[in-house]
Amino acid sequence: MKVIFLDLDRTLLGEDYSPEPARELIDSLKKAGFEVVLNSSKTRAEQEYYRRAWKLREPFIVENGSAVFIPDGYFPFEANGVRMEGYMVIELGERYEKIKVVLDEVSDKYGLKYYGNSTPEEVMAFTGLPEKLVPLAFEREYSETIFRWSGEGFEGELEAKGLRVVRGSRFVNVIGNTDKGKAALVLLSLYSRLGKVESYTLGDGENDFPLFEVVDRAFIVGGLRHPKAKNISSLDELLEVIG
Ligand code: MG
Repeated sequence: MKVIFLDLDRTLLGEDYSPEPARELIDSLKKAGFEVVLNSSKTRAEQEYYRRAWKLREPFIVENGSAVFIPDGYFPFEANGVRMEGYMVIELGERYEKIKVVLDEVSDKYGLKYYGNSTPEEVMAFTGLPEKLVPLAFEREYSETIFRWSGEGFEGELEAKGLRVVRGSRFVNVIGNTDKGKAALVLLSLYSRLGKVESYTLGDGENDFPLFEVVDRAFIVGGLRHPKAKNISSLDELLEVIG
């Protein structure tokens, strides 16, 4: 069994956040027998939008490794988790409400702007998200995204308060004690109950590095380098290498 974890922002999605450019890659991976697992800093609601567009039925990992959502009936066994609207959910991160309280305490000191203190119009300006996707990004369950800051040092202060601060491809993500790699390992151990697993990933940002550490073969798009990941120039090249 082959499982591939795919990042969304700046990996499958470009500046306009359209699902179209990656459609061919996803279809080819499915045809080649891959289980396609989204593993992104995006929310459940956002990932459900892309899963519908790409007709994915696999589990997915939300908000930078904060939770694994397993659709009911996907595995022939019941995973240990929290039952939630058609999913079994394995929660690894921190609840959003708790993260927001901590951010609200230090936001004035560092001039922080994040979903919890921004309007939909501001979020559109920061992210370039199309209007119809903005409400989905506001449906936060386990993380915040800091778009702007005016003072330095907020990362250390947030970490001292027990949160993790991760740089994504454009923004700073604030989560509980988890990462994309930890969540992938949890899911891989479930897959391994079905047989031998070959694991792959494609990402672009520092928040993908923990994921590169835990899979058999890692690929990176864009300019960053990582000792365990092979740089590729396009999504087509990934198919040539592994398809
Ligand atoms: Mg990315």
